[in-house]
Order: sequence, then C-alpha cells, then structure tokens
Amino acid sequence: MRFDTKLLHGKTSKGYAQREILPPISQVTAFRYENMEELERVFNHKSMGYAYSRIGNPTVSAFEQRVNELEGGVGAVCCSSGMSAITAALLAVCESGDEVITSKGLYGGTIGLFHNLEKFGIHTVYSDDMSGEAVKKLINDRTRVIFGELISNPSLKVLNIPEVAKAAHEAGIPLFVDSTTATPYIARPLELGADAVIHSTSKYLNGGGNSIGGIIVDGGKFNWDFSKHTALSEFSKYKQRALSVRLRTDIWENLGGCMAPLNAFLTYIGTDTLGLRMERICENADRIAHALNEIEGVEVSYLTLESHPFHSAVEEFFGGYGGGILSFRVGSKEKAYKVINSLKYACIASNIGDARTLVIHPASTLYIQTSKEEMEAAGVFEDTIRVSVGIEDPEDLVSDFVEAVRGNV
Ligand code: PLP
Repeated sequence: MRFDTKLLHGKTSKGYAQREILPPISQVTAFRYENMEELERVFNHKSMGYAYSRIGNPTVSAFEQRVNELEGGVGAVCCSSGMSAITAALLAVCESGDEVITSKGLYGGTIGLFHNLEKFGIHTVYSDDMSGEAVKKLINDRTRVIFGELISNPSLKVLNIPEVAKAAHEAGIPLFVDSTTATPYIARPLELGADAVIHSTSKYLNGGGNSIGGIIVDGGKFNWDFSKHTALSEFSKYKQRALSVRLRTDIWENLGGCMAPLNAFLTYIGTDTLGLRMERICENADRIAHALNEIEGVEVSYLTLESHPFHSAVEEFFGGYGGGILSFRVGSKEKAYKVINSLKYACIASNIGDARTLVIHPASTLYIQTSKEEMEAAGVFEDTIRVSVGIEDPEDLVSDFVEAVRGNV
C-alpha cells in the first residue's frame, strides 16, 4: 500500500465499535465499568480498556495508531502540544546530571525548553554541525540522547539521520528526531535510523490550523543499556520497548500533557489529506522560492534552490521535495515589515503547516526570548521573513510575493 492509500485504508482505519468510517469522538473524562474487578484489571494494564482520558482515550488512540503506522513505530503517545511531546520524550531518558546533544538553529520554543531543563540539571551541548563526526566528538559518558530537527525551522538545516544515528548507536546513545517540518509524507526518520520521532501535530498533520497537539513515536529497535540509561531502568524488562512503556505508564501519564479527544479527531481528519497537501505545498514553495530568487536584493533560503547548503538532501532523503518552509532576507526590518504588510493572500500569523500561507517576522516574535547568537544560528536575522507555504493557487501566490517584494525592496 502506498502512502496516500495507507492514509485512508491502513490497518488503523477500521475497527470502530459501530463501524464508523472515522473514529468517534469520545468526549469523556472517565469510563464506566460494571464491576470493580474489571476496572482494577484495566488500571493494572492486565486487560485492554480505558479508565481516564488523561491516561488513554479511544479517539486519541485512533490518531496515535494512525501516526504510528505511518512512521513505522511500535507505539505512540499523543501530547497536548509539540512542546509537551519534546518535554516528555527528553524526560523519559534524561535525569539530573545527564546531557543532551543537539544542533544550534532549532525552533525557538525548543531552545527555550533546553534552557529550562538546565535548572533541573539536564545540560545541553550544542553542535554547530550535526554531522556524524561532529556529534561523535561531543559524546561523553553523561550523554543520554541526541536530539535534532530533520529539517530545522526555519534555518532549513538537514539532519543526516543515517550518519548521526550511526555515531550515536556506536556510543550506545539513541537519536530522537523532531520531524514536524518534514512530515511522514516526505521522510520517515525511523526508516533512516532514528530511534524516536516527534511531531508538533499542530502543523502539517493537522493541516487546518485548528488544534494544538504533539506525538512521540517509538521505533522500538534501540538496545538500551539500563546501567547507563538509568531513567529507564525500572522498565528494563520491556527491553527495546522500554521507552514507549515508560512514556505510556509513567512519565507521560504523570506529566499530564495528554491530547484532547476533539483535537485528536480534528487532527485525524486533517491527516487524511496530508499527501495531497504536501504535494501542493512543496510545489508552491519551490515556485515562490525560484521566483523570489530572481529578484536583486533578496536572499532566499529554500532546499530546492541549488545554492542551498543542504540542497543534496532533497534527492538523498526527501524524494525530491523541499518542504513547506522558506525564508528570505530583504535588507532591513523596515522593508521586511512593508513586504509582509503588503501581501494580499499570506496571513500574518505565528504558525506553520496550515493550508493557508502564513508569514511572520521571526526576529521580533518567535525569537524574542533567545540570544542574538542563537537566533542567527537558526537562520533568523533582522530582515528575515519566514513563510509557511499553503495550498493556494500557485500563480496567485507567486504574483502576490513577487509584487510585494518588487514594490518594497
Ligand atoms: N517543533 C517544531 C519544529 C516547531 O516548529 C514547533 C512549533 O512551531 C514545535 C516543535 C512546537 O510545537 P507546538 O507549538 O505544537 O508546541
């Protein structure tokens, strides 16, 4: 079954109680049982069932199983947001005194989280370059996980998963990948060698800009050394599944960052059209990037442009697609504001992955909490405009961007 067919007819698309074509919305807090023995069995994971929606809910499970199937994992947990998914994934494997290796140039919220984790004794080591060689040099006996964004937002640095996973695995360290901007349509990190994949489902998976959410999918292949990964030692009997079991029955459940059933439903429906949307989004992004690249005084960053430092990844890892994010520099903050304000179709909004094209001036919004150095490492300068390309008509979008830029730069 190819991707678009699997989306609609995969294993997880059927089996609902009343043969519903979509998972029904179980908008409840708790589930009622005939006797205490039954509820005890469910609570103790001795029989299948739901007890309380923070711990499990049928609508949320349907979406978890769908993304798990698309990514090829052994188990998934949905979270209240992408940030909550990243937090739960890191806290499942790190304790005070442990270290995370990551790249510079991540999404601003994730950089903020790494700062927060310092106060809990979890230290982050940043690599300028996420090559296998560079990462290898930073691994020490306190390293517990390597975290990266497959296509970083908005710096568009590409994580070479096979190379970094090899270096990580040789040292007994797992690789966790935030694949929000790539989506399982463009690349599947677990197939490339990652050990867990994380999404902010608020973006492309949802696609309609109507629900915040996140998900962690466990690849279930990593050989944990429980004397090193002591955060997981109580779960050693689950061997390669220790991460998903700890998330499900311990840290994720206790952090309380569950996804709301209605959000799971809306995001489930959104995912039906992921393949179609990504086709159009990538085509539109490629056309806008090439058109803007022709204009003097504009510096465009997009993966399908030959000038992009990670251009080779388009064929190597992404099946010819460049994704939906592009950014361009126009010379000054003032010009950037003028361009943004004169766009007819692009909405000024702080999100990515919507069906609508969205634009923002990231330096004065998304990066206000980060240092100038961190911001520039993320490919964000005072004159940068970030675009999350949507599915509008390509001719309309291209002429909108070209006119706004020609009129103001
Ligand atoms: N990861 C990436 C790459 C993102 O772009 C974002 C948000 O923009 C997040 C994680 C955080 O997701 P959320 O806003 O759902 O918490």
